[in-house]
Amino acid sequence: MDISAKIRAGERINFDEAVALYEMDLFELGSLAKTRREELHGNKTYFNINRHINPTNICKDICKFCAYSASRKNPKPYTLKHEEIMDIVDEVVERGITEVHIVSAHNPETGLEWYTTVFSKIKAKYPHLHIKALTAAEIHFLAEEYNKSYDEILDIMIENGVDSLPGGGAEIFDEEVRDYICKGKVNSQQWLEIHEKWHKRGRKSNVTMLFGHVEKREHRVDHMMRIRDLQDKTGGFNCFIPLVYQSENNYLNVKEFMTANEILKTMAISRIVLDNVANLKAYWVTSTVNLALLSQEFGANDLDGTIEKESINSAAGAASANGVELQEFVDLIKDSGFTPVERDSLYNEIKVW
Ligand code: SF4
Repeated sequence: MDISAKIRAGERINFDEAVALYEMDLFELGSLAKTRREELHGNKTYFNINRHINPTNICKDICKFCAYSASRKNPKPYTLKHEEIMDIVDEVVERGITEVHIVSAHNPETGLEWYTTVFSKIKAKYPHLHIKALTAAEIHFLAEEYNKSYDEILDIMIENGVDSLPGGGAEIFDEEVRDYICKGKVNSQQWLEIHEKWHKRGRKSNVTMLFGHVEKREHRVDHMMRIRDLQDKTGGFNCFIPLVYQSENNYLNVKEFMTANEILKTMAISRIVLDNVANLKAYWVTSTVNLALLSQEFGANDLDGTIEKESINSAAGAASANGVELQEFVDLIKDSGFTPVERDSLYNEIKVW
């Protein structure tokens, strides 16, 4: 049976077959991925109304691709006080936002409590607000810095009100590429172990992949396979989020933006390989809004959200610093032929727009 027939029959494909899909005609591949998307979600495209908060950019790690942390290329260190974070939360809750997405750099000067008690403050004031916070990279940093086990940090997070984990810090799992782009921070095995432990607590998380830098196609497929294996064990990933590398203000020195063809193929292949992860997000912050809309034809069923304010990718050249207006966002999805469905953080439907 050829690969297309196998995919159309709903069979799982292996590593070599997934790599071979990159040689397939873009539109044939897109059609296979879109069929999978339609089986899972019909014509719906999900989004949520969320606010990203990035409380500090002071970091003890030195990932080559990073333009966010304070460094020679970005000499503007900041650390928000809890009161400043609460002011942001007060303001966004008043406007009906249902999720705060809180991720930071690895600041060794603040103390563990600065990272964790802000969640209990938010939860005490707004019990209904979903807190998505702390990447596995931050959890690893906190465990090492404060001599705790992963289990202890995860339990502290739950005690303080964190609801789900974002998918950041996964980058690329291949050890050689990972060593080159972000040596020193959480390794692949540790990243997966932290998410496995989180899932075993009955909690959900997301998983990202940073691509378009020095990795090869095989590394992307390897990344997807490792996710698929863990998902078979735990079922805890809600969503896969491929992130396109942003080239400005960092030390990786990759000047070319990946071609749209390669981005769309990667989206489509991930939709096909990750047959056990329900949602595929086209994160418009890193791919551009137009390409994210087009990704709906290549398997993506989620466009993240309005975002409102974003510091990490915009520092590296993404046009996301101020998010996008809700009505404009909804209109863009409709105009591209899909049905915008507002969801909560766990993919329960809130409203069909
Ligand atoms: S990517 Fe995260 S861990 Fe790496 S340098 Fe930037 S802020 Fe620090």
